[in-house]
Order: sequence, then structure tokens, then C-alpha cells
Amino acid sequence: MVFPIEEIGEEGLDFKLVLKKDQIVVGQTDLNLNDDVAVKGTLTRIDDNVYLKGGVTTSVVTSCSRCLDALTYPIDSELKAHFAPIDDRLTSLNEVELHASDIDVEVYEKQQINLTQSVRDSILLAVPAISLCEKGCKGLCSQCGQNLNHAFCKCSNESFTDPRLKILKVLKDQFSKGE
Ligand SMILES: [Zn+2]
Ligand SMILES: [Zn+2]
Repeated sequence: MVFPIEEIGEEGLDFKLVLKKDQIVVGQTDLNLNDDVAVKGTLTRIDDNVYLKGGVTTSVVTSCSRCLDALTYPIDSELKAHFAPIDDRLTSLNEVELHASDIDVEVYEKQQINLTQSVRDSILLAVPAISLCEKGCKGLCSQCGQNLNHAFCKCSNESFTDPRLKILKVLKDQFSKGE
């Protein structure tokens, strides 16, 4: 997804496109695109700086944080970026300052900006750190690994014992021993 910057006129450049899901490498284990990626936005240019504002919609497949079952998650994310040209005259010190002061600046060269990275970042930002297949997901049995949404296991009673009841049981055992 490359735009020559001379295509961006004074009015800006509106665009709308659909990327096939294999055109974007998400690069994260346990996260895959489930749909093609619809991208729309506006590019505006102030001198050599190009600003992107728009949105990305698609859906991803990831796994439930509790039971590890696959789940699809819809993505409707903001797309925002600032591109500045690579300047050969920048010393490495200046580059450090540039990155420290404005971490969101992406550089471009050869008068072309590439939006792929911004689209990928936008998708990743929209994926929650913890996603559950359903609100009340019961997760996996900590002992045998059985997915407790699908079936109970033999140890499930044990692992579901209320911790407060466990303490009572310990006290009761100690009491019986003392007798
Ligand atoms: Zn789950
Ligand atoms: Zn179990």
C-alpha cells in the first residue's frame, strides 16, 4: 500500500481500498486476520510532512485468554500516522531526539509513503490484551487441562471447591486429629 506523495494535492487525497488478508503480516503468534482489511482515510501534506487519518475494519481470530478456544474479534480501529522524509543530513543525535519527542513519526523515502505498517499497528492496537470467548468462560481445569465449557472432568469438583470451604476442611481435619 504505497502512495507517491506527489499524488497528494492541496486538497488532500481521499482513498478507500480493500487489502486481501494475506497482504498484511500481523506477525504475532495466536493472532490471524479472519477477513480482508478495509482501509479508508485521507492523506494531507504540509511541505514534506504527510498526515494520515482514517479507519481500518476487519476481524481477527485469536484465542480465548482463559480456555484457548478460537474466537473472532471484530476490528474497527482508528488509523492515524505522521510521515516525515528521511533526511540524510540528520545526525544520529538528531534522530534520537526526533524519536524521543515524537514517537509516532514514521519516515519515508523516495517520495513514497507506505501505509502497511500503520494499518498493521492500527489492527494490533484494537485487539484487547485479554479476550474471552464469552463473559462467563469457565476456562481450563488447572489439573487436567479439560475445557470446562465443553465438559466436566473428574477433578473438576476438587478444583471448584470454594477456598473458604477448604480452610474449614483443614481446620476440621486438625480438630479430628487433636481428638
Ligand atoms: Zn473461553
Ligand atoms: Zn480436571
